[in-house]
Amino acid sequence: MLGSPAAANAGIRHRTICIVTCEENMMEMSASAPLRGNRAYISLGSNLGDSLQTLRRAAAALGGLGTVVAASPIYETDPVGLREQPAFLNAVVELDTTLEPLPLLDALLAIEAEGGRERGIRFGPRTLDLDLIWYDGRQLDSDRLTLPHPRAHEREFVLRPLADVAPAIDLQGETVAALLERLPPQGVRATGTSLM
Ligand code: ADP
Ligand code: MG
Repeated sequence: MLGSPAAANAGIRHRTICIVTCEENMMEMSASAPLRGNRAYISLGSNLGDSLQTLRRAAAALGGLGTVVAASPIYETDPVGLREQPAFLNAVVELDTTLEPLPLLDALLAIEAEGGRERGIRFGPRTLDLDLIWYDGRQLDSDRLTLPHPRAHEREFVLRPLADVAPAIDLQGETVAALLERLPPQGVRATGTSLM
């Protein structure tokens, strides 16, 4: 999505400098280095502690795993599943990375641990949750990792920020934009706050 036509023609994609596209508040990041890795989309969530600071620190840490190509704005979302818990803040980061899916998952779990994540009840409150939603269009079903993420297509808190950065990617045979359009509202609100 980024780069000058000349660069695109040369097969080289560059990030552009922190452009905040006004309405969506979606940020496209900058760099001079060409992007050479695989494209990955990572969902970030937090509903314990200082969630804004936690998400921003996590986004900065994701930059250590490759190049952050784009970041959605932050949304406030009603909890899904276990409803008696605080609202979440959620966002999505687009990452260009040379890490393969399993090493990338390990790196995400390490960032979660740094963010103070304690694993309590499933779907319960958490200081930081990082999910690998989509990786280079690959499909995988192993003990440790399912790609694309098996529940992303039915969760507005994933689809809405993902649609800001990648509306055309495929989840379960449909585009993110199409899935979002027919999903009943689940309580996802724009905050007008940027992630990075
Ligand atoms: P959830 O995010 O579904 O609430 P957790 O964050 O506790 O649950 O994740 C539990 C495990 O899910 C992780 O340790 C990881 O091995 C596994 N997992 C499987 N597929 C994925 C994926 N696409 N992204 C992140 N974790 C995944
Ligand atoms: Mg998770």
